[in-house]
Amino acid sequence: DRIKQGLKKTAQILQTDIRDLFKTRGRLVDQAFLDELFEVLVRTDMGVQAAQQLVDQIAQKYRNRVIEWSEAIEEIKKGLKDLLRQPESPIRFASQGPTVIMVCGVNGCGKTTTIAKLAYMFQSQGKKVLLGAADTFRAAAVEQLSIWAQRLGVEIVTGPQGSDPAAVGHRAVARAIETQADVCIVDTAGRLQTHQNLMRELSKIHRVLGKQIPEAPHEVLLVLDATTGQNGISQAKHFSEAVKCTGLVLAKLDGTAKGGVVVAIRQQMGLPVKFVGVGEKPEDLLPFDADSFVDAMFA
Ligand code: GDP
Repeated sequence: DRIKQGLKKTAQILQTDIRDLFKTRGRLVDQAFLDELFEVLVRTDMGVQAAQQLVDQIAQKYRNRVIEWSEAIEEIKKGLKDLLRQPESPIRFASQGPTVIMVCGVNGCGKTTTIAKLAYMFQSQGKKVLLGAADTFRAAAVEQLSIWAQRLGVEIVTGPQGSDPAAVGHRAVARAIETQADVCIVDTAGRLQTHQNLMRELSKIHRVLGKQIPEAPHEVLLVLDATTGQNGISQAKHFSEAVKCTGLVLAKLDGTAKGGVVVAIRQQMGLPVKFVGVGEKPEDLLPFDADSFVDAMFA
């Protein structure tokens, strides 16, 4: 299925690497084995902490015993599922009026495509969607989002280049109320600017949206590029200090063999991973589910 397809690169490397640990049918779980296993796990970008935790788990259960490759896989899968388990975190919809979703992320991370995918997902649920192009700094961003809006047949609110992003956000929500849209998705600036500026801009948009609808934005989604691996985590921290994020979207999972980065992100960010992007098309957005994710990592 789709998540397996998205994690194909990760699965290939991981399977090969783990299989390489087992040159004979079984293998004695000694320190050399544990060290090699640690290396393999770290290469998936899951982070040193998670890798150590999994290795300790295997050591505790199997030290000085012979382990079969299938047993090792099952044990790692079980450990990973525990590490990735998170409370159910569906999109929080407004009790009445439009649900407002602010989307953040650094330029190039896949933010525009993710907004298009979200719009498509809500449309498939029978919801009316409106987009707000509040990344007024980049003309190309507005243009790209407008192309998606046209393709998907949703209304988009834009502003002149360099105009106040919060004003565009405000107009988008006003228009969503007026046209009785169900969901208003607001794009935000993704340039790597100084922390102060980013903070000021994002928190102003946040504040303005909240003045129009008391609970808005109902979600603040941070998009991360899975192919940047661990680097994405410091970026994520940068953003989550600027604005209170409610969830993560991990884009371009299909483009990396380091899908294990989800584990590191979960451990270090304390935010739920809500969706993963597994391609460039509108339908290539999947809700994140720990069990099927881990199964796909080893499929
Ligand atoms: P933005 O600058 O953050 O808005 O990034 P874009 O949405 O324009 O995406 C940058 C590039 O990544 C584009 O070429 C997208 O088609 C591509 N992209 C975005 N999401 C995915 C994904 O989940 N998988 C793959 N393979 N490519 C993606």
